[in-house]
Amino acid sequence: MATTKAATNRGSAADSVLASRLARETSGDVFFDSFNRGRYATDASFYQIIPAGVVVPRTVDEALRTLAICRDAGRIVTPRGGGTSQCGQTVNDGIVVDVSKHLNRIISLDVENRRCVVEPGIVLDDLNRQLKMHGLWFPVDVSTASRATIGGMAGNNSCGGRSLRYGTMRDNTFAMDAALADGTLLHFGEVPRDLSTFNSEGSGRALFADMLALGEREAREIAERFPKVQRRVGGYNLDALVPSNTPNNMAHLLVGSEGTLAFTTQVELKLWPIIRNKLLGVCHFGSFYEAMNAAQHLVKLRPIAVELVDRTMLALGREIAMFQPIIKTAVRGDPDAVLIVEFAEEDQSDNIRRLKQLGELMADLGFGWDQPQRKWGGVVEIVEPALQIGVAEFRAAGLNVMMSMKQEGKPVSFVEDCAVPLPHLADYTERLNAVFEKHGTRGTMYAHASEGCLHVRPVLNLKLDKDVKAMRAIAEEAFALVREYKGSHSGEHGDGLVRSEFHETMFGPRIINDFAEVKQRFDPDNLLNPGKIVDPPKMDDRALFRYPPDYRVGALTTKLDWSAWPGAGGGFQGAVEMCNNNGTCRKLEGGVMCPSYRTTRNEKDVTRGRANTLRLAISGQLGAGALASDEMLDTLKLCVSCKACRHECPTGVDMAKMKIEVLAARVEKRGLTLHDRLVGYLPRYAGIAGRLAPLANLRNNSPLLRKLLERFAGISAGRTLPEWRRDVFMPSQEAIGPVDGREVVLFADTFNRAYERENLDDALRVLVAAGYRVHLPRPPDGNRALCCGRTFLSAGLVDDARAELDRLVIAYAPFAARGVPIIGLEPSCLLTLRDELLSLRSDDAARSVSAHALLIEEFLAREAEAGRLQLPLGPVAERALVHGHCHQKSFGAFPSVAKVLRLVPGLQVDIIESSCCGMAGAFGYGADTFDVSMEMAELSLLPAVRNAGPQTLIIADGTSCRHQIGDGTNRTALHVTRVLAMSLDRAQQNSNPTAVPKEPVHG
Ligand SMILES: Cc1cc2nc3c(=O)[nH]c(=O)nc-3n(C[C@H](O)[C@H](O)[C@H](O)COP(=O)(O)OP(=O)(O)OC[C@H]3O[C@@H](n4cnc5c(N)ncnc54)[C@H](O)[C@@H]3O)c2cc1C
Ligand code: SF4
Ligand code: SF4
Repeated sequence: MATTKAATNRGSAADSVLASRLARETSGDVFFDSFNRGRYATDASFYQIIPAGVVVPRTVDEALRTLAICRDAGRIVTPRGGGTSQCGQTVNDGIVVDVSKHLNRIISLDVENRRCVVEPGIVLDDLNRQLKMHGLWFPVDVSTASRATIGGMAGNNSCGGRSLRYGTMRDNTFAMDAALADGTLLHFGEVPRDLSTFNSEGSGRALFADMLALGEREAREIAERFPKVQRRVGGYNLDALVPSNTPNNMAHLLVGSEGTLAFTTQVELKLWPIIRNKLLGVCHFGSFYEAMNAAQHLVKLRPIAVELVDRTMLALGREIAMFQPIIKTAVRGDPDAVLIVEFAEEDQSDNIRRLKQLGELMADLGFGWDQPQRKWGGVVEIVEPALQIGVAEFRAAGLNVMMSMKQEGKPVSFVEDCAVPLPHLADYTERLNAVFEKHGTRGTMYAHASEGCLHVRPVLNLKLDKDVKAMRAIAEEAFALVREYKGSHSGEHGDGLVRSEFHETMFGPRIINDFAEVKQRFDPDNLLNPGKIVDPPKMDDRALFRYPPDYRVGALTTKLDWSAWPGAGGGFQGAVEMCNNNGTCRKLEGGVMCPSYRTTRNEKDVTRGRANTLRLAISGQLGAGALASDEMLDTLKLCVSCKACRHECPTGVDMAKMKIEVLAARVEKRGLTLHDRLVGYLPRYAGIAGRLAPLANLRNNSPLLRKLLERFAGISAGRTLPEWRRDVFMPSQEAIGPVDGREVVLFADTFNRAYERENLDDALRVLVAAGYRVHLPRPPDGNRALCCGRTFLSAGLVDDARAELDRLVIAYAPFAARGVPIIGLEPSCLLTLRDELLSLRSDDAARSVSAHALLIEEFLAREAEAGRLQLPLGPVAERALVHGHCHQKSFGAFPSVAKVLRLVPGLQVDIIESSCCGMAGAFGYGADTFDVSMEMAELSLLPAVRNAGPQTLIIADGTSCRHQIGDGTNRTALHVTRVLAMSLDRAQQNSNPTAVPKEPVHG
């Protein structure tokens, strides 16, 4: 079996021969370096095994060639999709073959017969997006739908929250094509029991015949030992082979085999009509036990799901502002648990009838709003679709909050998906909680009550031997309970390294021998993902853990404050280790995270890959000096510091902040490049460049200078740089507007000041017109304007950034101390005050400045909501199309843009569903990042702008975003303040048609 080892570059001679051959005979990526191997050493389990190499095949043929080459070299192969397995299914030594990047097409679609054939690497959400236009979907709706692949779902026999209606992956798989370890490519589908006339390759026929014979021989044992719950996904599906299960489908044996029997090349799926109508009933219970007991009765109304949310999750949800209104509407009183019952019949009147019956059933079971605690309860009906979505999102977010614990102990997945027959659910959960308590831990239960499959993760610190022992004891005791109730210890997530060891006690020795026989028959040389299902290691073998006993992070010097987390580097270690590999950052649509992955689909370029690399680096597993190495720089190169992960990663991994540390370490070790200097020190030379504008702008008009700057400073010759100007924003007054007006401070950032003063002029005009007294505090140390330090941070010049912020805090703190809002225009600059400032300074003055920092649209929206905004506005256009800056989204500031724009009469405001614009400060100007920058923009932003009519206003508050839109579409994008100023002019013209538009208000 595999053992852990550091991901050193000292591969064996045999490995280098293998690597060369793979690189020669395939055209996809072949990685044998320590950084890439390290990135494929983990999945969403707590295990880690460094593979010998990684192959990312471009075609199915290349995948099969990889298999053949590895076989020749005697190397094992582990197929991998999204790598979101929770039980260690995808970790192994040998060669990992990642099918998610290239093998992700729909091969054929038969709408009429509701079938499709897909390659194994297609992501479920991606498949469903393509099916939607045909009114179809693939309903095995796993929570990881945004990154789980069909090959991985088949590998694990995955199940969705609605498996009550749709069943598991096995129930929705018609057939699979797959290669055996010896290279034989076979079609696995329905077979007759008499194979003599069956049209199959010789070896296939022999194999299938052997399997059917095994099914016949073991039918009685299988009937006796296989748990009779729908959610039994452990072991090989021998029940698919028994005579009573005709026609036998050989694909069903492959489903759930976790890459141990064959390498899947395509899967034929059963499709279903999409759900058009649904209604939810939120059943309330004063007692958790009663809720669990009720589940067996509620399912009789044939809902498609019954999902549990307990008291702890409700409490967590109540702390999240966006969920407060949902909980307020959907939850009554103070229940111990709620069961969310979902009806989704084609005919809505059926759903209405069932929802009514649900109320009656609850009453029949003795629940009532006027009953004492144990029988207190009833149903809150959720009819409105928006609220239904809100309820679903709330349940998901509750889990995320739970996962984001910053302490060393974390919720650990190992008994997380046991399934028991519904009549035993209440007793089982009660006894399981007692097991946790006995071992000094606790866990919150949630999810699929309708299946008797509740998710629960006891909180443990697997770096401690005592907690590892507790985990083992809990596993043994919990699985014993499951056996007692004739349930399945693996009800959703499969076996992997966590559960396979326990199969013998669940299935008995005879079935274990059968599993071994199947494995031997398919893969006699043990080449396909060994150690899973058959011949597993001990689940608590710490040598296989992500944090083995010798895991250490040495002393680390960090520049930013990481004290919210535990561990070395003032907590940097804990922040890095927050990544649990759940893979949310691999989503391809929705939200913003992670733009670089969406563009390249490389594990290196996703938040998870970066976090794993950092963890390996700080723990010495990538050799000395890894943190400041070229490979680390390459790992972070395409991270655009959009901060989307900080907001969207369920555990709050903040890669933009971590990148600053890496860049700082690198600058310290290697010094600055010319590129870093030009980017970082821009605020310091902006004044001179403005004064020498014609000279400074020469580069844009000279192909030679463009080339020279590309060669020596890495600035793409293909980019036009923003034009310097002499008339920079330089107010002569320190305050403008009515002296008795409500006070604000306007932060004039470097970019708007130097390149686009119109935005600041218009902001001033709007604020003054609305009656505010606008302060423009002078820098404490002379004439150079104030700066937030953003460019310095992006070059790793943390001390310089701190110096800039010190100046800014001195200037603004007196205003903040008396509650004056500090408002800014450029999201990346202003939000530095809310974010990095607090990582650099934690004193009262800094905290106060940070707490008062607002983007102008946040400020105006707040004023409007409070009824304080007196701004006469007139119509300017019929439609505005808005692109949000990533930092606006990360800090929840983006909705204010639309709110403010909607103050403009007659303006329809549409939001572009875009991720990062790709420019991201200096990123888009880099010669080596230009192409990726444009690809990011082309994902959705630029096509949306190109499709907009010429009269449509294009709005983008970020300087870089506006530049990118201009470069990519030749359209001018406007800051929101410009639209407000235009609207103000229009209102004034309307009230006085002879008036000319006002001159800017110059300070
Ligand atoms: C937060 C979270 C929530 C989850 N929720 C659910 C849930 O609701 N329901 C559920 O069922 N699971 C769930 N899971 C587990 C996991 O996401 C699913 O099992 C998922 O289907 C795995 O897909 P994947 O692409 O990541 O597969 P991987 O993890 O990459 O692979 C899974 C298995 O399939 C094998 N495999 C992959 N491709 C091939 C191939 N081409 N040929 C042969 N074998 C192959 C692998 O070797 C491995 O054994 C969850 C996991 C997490 C982290
Ligand atoms: S970075 Fe966040 S979203 Fe990505 S895998 Fe890690 S924990 Fe999940
Ligand atoms: S900051 Fe943005 S680009 Fe960087 S890892 Fe996070 S989501 Fe990806």
